[in-house]
Amino acid sequence: MLKQYLLTPGPTPIPPQVALKEALPIIHHRTDEFSAIYKDISEDLKYIFQTKNNIYTVACSGTGVMEMAVVNLLSPNDEILVASCGNFGDRWIKISQAYGVKIVSISVEWGKTVDPLQVQKALKENTNIKAVFTTLVETSTGVVNDIKSIGKIVSATNAIFAVDAISGLVGQEFKTDLWKADVVICTSQKGFMLAPGLAFITLSDKAWKLVESSKIPKFYFDIKKYKNLTNATPFTPPVTLIVSLQEAIKLIKEKRIENIWNDCRVLAKAARAGMQALGLKLFAEVPCDVLTSAIVPENIGEKIVKTLRKKYGVSIAGGHGDWKDKIVRFSHMGYICKADLLVGFSCLEMVLSELGLSIEKGKSVAAVEEELLKD
Ligand SMILES: *Cc1c(COP(=O)(O)O)cnc(C)c1O
Repeated sequence: MLKQYLLTPGPTPIPPQVALKEALPIIHHRTDEFSAIYKDISEDLKYIFQTKNNIYTVACSGTGVMEMAVVNLLSPNDEILVASCGNFGDRWIKISQAYGVKIVSISVEWGKTVDPLQVQKALKENTNIKAVFTTLVETSTGVVNDIKSIGKIVSATNAIFAVDAISGLVGQEFKTDLWKADVVICTSQKGFMLAPGLAFITLSDKAWKLVESSKIPKFYFDIKKYKNLTNATPFTPPVTLIVSLQEAIKLIKEKRIENIWNDCRVLAKAARAGMQALGLKLFAEVPCDVLTSAIVPENIGEKIVKTLRKKYGVSIAGGHGDWKDKIVRFSHMGYICKADLLVGFSCLEMVLSELGLSIEKGKSVAAVEEELLKD
């Protein structure tokens, strides 16, 4: 009976219009009807990614499409640069290692961002680097990286630039072509407001050249199988998810992407004000617009998350790795609105109070309201 509020950085809430599409009778995927839908979403995804290049839709989670990027671009013993500032950046390292790729890594302290000048330095010192991998929004810490500056640096070299935009895309301003990202990946369960299970990848001409020389074995994830088809996928696609994606894209297009970026900025400002009003220090050095992370007193992170969910039906996230119990992460990407933010902060305030922190009731909600009213 407890009403659920999903304020986690994936999965995110699904708008009712989108969820209803998932309930429709399934159609066959080798039909004109499905091809028309697939053609439609493939065109519209270009607008959301801000690219002129094709977007390929694949059935897998985010990690799957990260692996797809690695296996299609590289060969064993190739050298790559990974600029990581958290758990998801580190995942590029783990995947590449599994395929025998040599890694030069820039590992930034969690909570901080990748310094573009460090990328420049690493590229100068290691002239064989084939590709640079990084993350738009590092969801494990809540920072946003300066993709535009890194893109400018990488584009002046022979290396290609691959960006994990999984949690950032849609909510956080991002321009694939203008910012010179050669490979961009995303999934359905974050800013796209869909159930998990769909992933997207786009490649520039420069990246396709690398695909031609890649020697890592692959089959399901062989991107050439996707490239050679028009308005169809090589294997059975998650038809229902693609049908509901069409509806989610309709909502995004109606609102326009610039307005969504702006809404997320407003929510992020309010969430940061709310955290600070609770006496919590913000974790991210350069905070993103799609989630807000804050440091909580030692060892109560998980207790906060569990109590909020159990008692009030409000789901937020704790930390990853060493920060598991030390931070909380409050998402405001996708179908999360001003009213949800107020519910979240009001309940968070009560839980912190119940856990023994000295909290002035209503203070964070007032701070959130203050920011929201400026919009
Ligand atoms: C959520 C997320 C992933 C995805 O991983 P899954 O395999 O879908 O669990 C990858 N990178 C980032 C930055 C993410 O936020």
